Order: sequence, then C-alpha cells, then structure tokens
Amino acid sequence: KPDFVIRNLHVQVEGKEILKGVDLHIRGGEIHAIMGPNGTGKSTLASAIMGHPHYEVTEGEILLDGQNVLEMSVDERARAGLFLAMQYPAEVPGVSNANFIRTALNARRGEGNEIPVLQFHRRLVQKMKELSIDPSFAERYLNEGFSGGEKKRNEILQMAMLEPRIAILDEIDSGLDIDALKIVANGVNQLRSDNIGFLIITHYQRLLNYIVPDVVHVMMQGRIVKSGDAKLAEELEAKGYDWLKQELGIED
Ligand code: ADP
Ligand code: MG
Ligand code: MG
Repeated sequence: KPDFVIRNLHVQVEGKEILKGVDLHIRGGEIHAIMGPNGTGKSTLASAIMGHPHYEVTEGEILLDGQNVLEMSVDERARAGLFLAMQYPAEVPGVSNANFIRTALNARRGEGNEIPVLQFHRRLVQKMKELSIDPSFAERYLNEGFSGGEKKRNEILQMAMLEPRIAILDEIDSGLDIDALKIVANGVNQLRSDNIGFLIITHYQRLLNYIVPDVVHVMMQGRIVKSGDAKLAEELEAKGYDWLKQELGIED
C-alpha cells in the first residue's frame, strides 16, 4: 500500500515563493482532491512533485514509502510510481500511442525488466476494453488530431497501463463535456484500489460528482487552508471561494 507524505513544502518559481508550506498525506486506496481559485499553486504542487526543473523546493520534504522523492531524478520518480496526467497533453508526431506507452512502461519497470512485446499488447488490448477505448486508438499517433476528450481518455489509458502508486490528475476535467467527463471518471473509479492513491486537482466541483473523494483540500495563496470530506466540494460549488476567504481572513 503506497504511503505518500508531503511536509511543509515550499516551492519557488523564478525566485518567487509560490508554495508556502504544504502538508499532505495520501495512502493507498484514498482519493484526495485539491480545489482552489486560479493561480494559487495547484499545478506548481504537481510539477514540484514530479521534479520539474523550473520548480525549486526551498524547504520541506516529499516521501513515497519513506523514500526521499526530492533526491530522485524525474525518471526515478516515474519509476518509483509517481504519475502526472498533464493539463495539456502534448502531441508527439510519428510515435504511436502503443509505442509511447510501451516506452513509458519500460522506463517505469527499469532496464533488464522490459515487458515482452506480446504480453504488452495483450495487456494493452485488455485495458482498452475495460476502459471502452476503441482498439484503433493504439496505432494512432500520440494525441495527433485527437479531440480534447480523446486526449484525456488516452491519459487514463496510460495511467492504467503504468499502474502508478500515486496518480496526479491536474485539471483533467478542463474542457470536457459530460460524456468525456464520465469516461475519465469511470477510468479512475476502475483503477481505484489499495495499491494506488489519487491526487485530483480541479477548479470545479463537477468532476467530483463522478469521482467521490475521501478528502477535499482547498488551496489558496500557496497553502492548504481547509480540508474536509466530499461535502466541502459541494459547499464550494454552491457558495464559491469568497466566503471561505472571508471566513479565514484571506485578502487578495
Ligand atoms: P494554479 O494551478 O492553482 O492555477 P499555478 O501553480 O499554475 O496555479 O500558478 C501559481 C503561481 O505561480 C501563479 O502566480 C503563476 O503565475 C506562477 N507560476 C507557475 N508556474 C510558473 C512558471 N513556470 N513561470 C513563472 N511563473 C509561474
Ligand atoms: Mg491555473
Ligand atoms: Mg493549474
């Protein structure tokens, strides 16, 4: 069962402090949601966890199963089981989905432990079936000519194949219609197990109608200012963020 701990995380971008002491503890089987207004540092948190070079950790720690994530390279983090579904997945011309996923999976498994090609394809076909993804998807070039919904669905397929220990979805709901949203949510719900913990970043409560989180955190100005259960998300949907700012005495 994964155990993911963030303690007092401070992160700077270009010399400016964006995260000002974030604490988070996600265990296998749990879904945590982070909500909050735009520009409060949600994506910064995701990037810092994955080791993006622009994001400098100046204080605090990140531990996965007791191991110091901050000492790991980007590749090592992926191998340890950290996964980030991008807010805007890039197109990679000339590389098929299947090849992209196989490369990523082999990077995760490590040298000398590559998955046999036939076994990979069997697993890919199986996962696509489970996620109601058309088999032709595998041979299409990565994200090229994909609709917004197809890109997001593809992220879910990648996640299902990589079997991360901690999966971070950053605004995977942005720009999705209800049908695409349901497919993405369905994928997450299928993957839900004690072997995986989720961190779902979203501006809107809508996605959380379909993926019911165990814990909801609100981030404002680089800190988690409130945590609660799924009801907190509904409250935010109904009342917006301003009442919370007032309640907590936060000024813009
Ligand atoms: P959110 O995801 O909550 O909308 P972000 O983490 O994207 O917020 O941004 C938080 C703050 O950090 C913003 O003020 C943003 O302008 C700044 N920021 C984030 N990434 C960068 C970057 N790569 N370069 C400069 N500023 C950045
Ligand atoms: Mg944003
Ligand atoms: Mg963001």
